[in-house]
Amino acid sequence: PVRVRFAPSPTGPLHIGGVRTALFNYLFAKKYQGTFYLRIEDTDQNRFVPGAEAYIFEALEWLGIAPDETVGKNEKFGPYRQSERKALYKQYADQLIQSGWAYYAFDTAESLDQHRKNHEAQGKTFIYNWHNREKLDTSLVLTPEATEKRIAAGEAYVIRFKTPVDQILELHDIIRGDLKFDTNLLDDKVLFKSDGMPTYHLANIVDDHLMETSHVIRGEEWLPSLPLHHLLYKAFGWEAPEFAHLPLILKPIGNGKLSKRDGDKMGFPVFPLDWTDPSTGEVSSGYREKGFFPEAVVNFLALLGWNDGTEQELFSLDELCQKFDLNRVHKSGAKFDPEKNKWFNHQYLQHQSNSDLADLFAKELAHRNVSYTFDLERIVALIKERAHFVSEFWELADYFFEAPKTYDEKASKNWKEDTPSLLTQAFEVMSQVQPFESVAIENELKAWMTANEIGMGKIMQPLRLSLVGALKGPHLFDIIELLGKEEVEKRIQKAIA
Ligand code: GLU
Repeated sequence: PVRVRFAPSPTGPLHIGGVRTALFNYLFAKKYQGTFYLRIEDTDQNRFVPGAEAYIFEALEWLGIAPDETVGKNEKFGPYRQSERKALYKQYADQLIQSGWAYYAFDTAESLDQHRKNHEAQGKTFIYNWHNREKLDTSLVLTPEATEKRIAAGEAYVIRFKTPVDQILELHDIIRGDLKFDTNLLDDKVLFKSDGMPTYHLANIVDDHLMETSHVIRGEEWLPSLPLHHLLYKAFGWEAPEFAHLPLILKPIGNGKLSKRDGDKMGFPVFPLDWTDPSTGEVSSGYREKGFFPEAVVNFLALLGWNDGTEQELFSLDELCQKFDLNRVHKSGAKFDPEKNKWFNHQYLQHQSNSDLADLFAKELAHRNVSYTFDLERIVALIKERAHFVSEFWELADYFFEAPKTYDEKASKNWKEDTPSLLTQAFEVMSQVQPFESVAIENELKAWMTANEIGMGKIMQPLRLSLVGALKGPHLFDIIELLGKEEVEKRIQKAIA
């Protein structure tokens, strides 16, 4: 059975790239009626950030891609927080020591630094591994007796993986295909630290195994860890899951990975929700608070590195669950396009019901202390086509709620000497229409203009200017109907006064 996981480290707000990883795991699980679980990888206590874990849960919940199993939910293989599994990892590190797949190392930070410098002086990069220890610096290889002595003496140690020497690993990634790795170029990574905590590598592999993970779908930044992870499974004698490394998300302009700074510079969020940094109080904005619909965010994230092979761009979550295919995920980086993201929101805004949009608009109006007697659904129906966000409604519709205080100057050029008298006559004509409805008003007024040989421009533009204050807005007669006879009269009086 398919069991996939999202395994974030709660070191800050979840970046949009992390959300994409969660989404692809979710889609893959649903496609195969599998399970999507969330594991909190919080073994690095120095990097713990309060609030980050809650943020992760809330973000996935908001997007509608909550995990099937996680902390406090269907804890079939719990606990789902690595800090609560702490006691478990030591035995696995010991097991690798016993089987010769790992060793104790006592290097101090200073001595490692010295090695690094020595290598650099010779124009080489320092690779800490058994290959180098045996071949270059035999003094680093300790006998079991020497090791025991140093542990007994209370010296700080770490447990490192003993990468096999002189092997070419031929590995497979669902997205990247066949890959080769030279083990002599790999570092002997630390698996266990003297503070009693496992590192990411050990905890991740142990848990992926114990939690019966079938596929590891994660960001490309973890590809360099693939050979080590593969070797760890081998060392434990466990069957490895399949791997798929998702392409990078690239900045909109230039090259390289999308970063928080790009968002700050260009004014778009890179986080799903607002985040307040607990140490600085600095707020980073999120898609939710910017007024994005979760469906729009899911949709644009799904297309970062994947498409279904057609031109289709709009996909509901259900549709994505059916169509998503790891074999169709690209290798090359996916450019993040903030403008396109807005386009998606525009599309989803059009699909919302007018009554839902009216509810959202009502909140906005309450916030602005605007009172009204209008049926907001009717206003929303007139303006939504022009909006990317509900937050733009006010600017698109403010003239419904308050009569214009100023009249757009440029447009006033159409204001001639006979305009006041023409507008007064036009109102007379319109006011006869019963019921006071858009189409009927338009027909009456136009018939009158034709009969009296009055050009369109002489009435329509000044009329719009009187009612709206500028030459903007939807169909004029829809505005007139909505404002109602009395208000239309008031505004014309004011404009011609
Ligand atoms: N804890 C790792 C992270 O923060 C998980 C990487 C993986 O999925 O193996 O991304």
